[in-house]
Amino acid sequence: LPNHTAVVSHIAIDIGGSLAKLVYFSREAHSTEPGGRLNFQSFETDHIDDCLEFMRKLKRRYQRANGGNSPPASDLCVMATGGGAYKFYDKIREVLGVDVLREDEMECLIIGLDFFINEIPREVFTYSEEHPMQFVEPGNNVYPYLLVNIGSGVSFLKVSGPREYERVGGTSLGGGTLWGLLSLLTGARTFDEMLDLASEGDNSNVDMLVGDIYGTDYGKIGLKSTTIASSFGKVFRKKRQAENEAEDSGGLGHKDQLHHRQQSQTNNGVHTPPLLDEDMEQHEPQLSDFMSKDPSRPFSSADISRSLLYAISNNIGQIAYLQSQIHGLSHIYFGGSFIRGHPQTMNTLSYAIKFWSKGAKQAYFLRHEGYLGAVGAFLKRQP
Ligand code: ADP
Repeated sequence: LPNHTAVVSHIAIDIGGSLAKLVYFSREAHSTEPGGRLNFQSFETDHIDDCLEFMRKLKRRYQRANGGNSPPASDLCVMATGGGAYKFYDKIREVLGVDVLREDEMECLIIGLDFFINEIPREVFTYSEEHPMQFVEPGNNVYPYLLVNIGSGVSFLKVSGPREYERVGGTSLGGGTLWGLLSLLTGARTFDEMLDLASEGDNSNVDMLVGDIYGTDYGKIGLKSTTIASSFGKVFRKKRQAENEAEDSGGLGHKDQLHHRQQSQTNNGVHTPPLLDEDMEQHEPQLSDFMSKDPSRPFSSADISRSLLYAISNNIGQIAYLQSQIHGLSHIYFGGSFIRGHPQTMNTLSYAIKFWSKGAKQAYFLRHEGYLGAVGAFLKRQP
């Protein structure tokens, strides 16, 4: 909660497939100054109850500031958008005891983005390795532009003017894909741990590079030897090689271990990933245990994370470029919590746009990238 005496009068929530994003306005209770501050907070959608409890506390404070327990709670303005505004509609109203105004998710996204672009200094920036975070000051001629919102899934929106937009594409290979697959493939327990792993990793241990195929670069078509030819393309061959080496050295080969494990699985009928530990009752098996201990799988969680982050980001960057070509748009804004200010993500997206457009188009990022929808809903009813 904000500091003890601040009063909240206006709350907006954007409940997506992965995260619930909350934006609320607070001002000092006895302040004579106009204005206040916008606060940002997010919860996992799975923990929506914690989020609602947080909102209930904000409401209680509002009531107290307005003289007691009985409402003017109806004056507290609660806006909701995203799929969860429908899924949890009854629950929110019940827990908070106030009416909830629902708003269209795509419309909120662009209202939020327009506000950030036009009104907030030091919010929008470009990114490159040489020049990280170059802020772009609010300016004219913002339309038309492409908004690429990378949440659990990805939406591509063509925006032609204020509140004038069309969803022109989407892909299901988005933030939820990275979050999900890395939870299967690495020991990481949170999204931020995955990003930390990615920062440390070396994708060339996992990815097949142009250099792995050509032994050099392929200059004629503009491919450097470090260009990724196939994400995860090295894995099968490296894994088989390591298995063969393990068998040759007389150890219990990977296949034997797998067989051994599968037999014991059939006995108790539980379907779990194969594991090396004999002592299976001791702890819940994780695929990551298997991978880190098995000599026949020489892949680190960090390398895997880096590779998958590149795969997802490159793919989105490429689609974004193609969409911008089809619709004649040269400004491309990237939003959604997937980005999370992560250097490799932004660099990959930015590089993809610059590379494919031969420098003609520009990728833009936002400091509050995850809160476009929540801010848009907030602005639909100004305090
Ligand atoms: P949605 O509205 O679909 O929930 P968001 O814009 O909130 O989409 O982005 C969700 C994605 O952001 C996740 O799938 C994941 O890739 C990433 N992400 C960022 N921070 C977190 C976090 N703390 N927990 C889970 N995922 C996170």
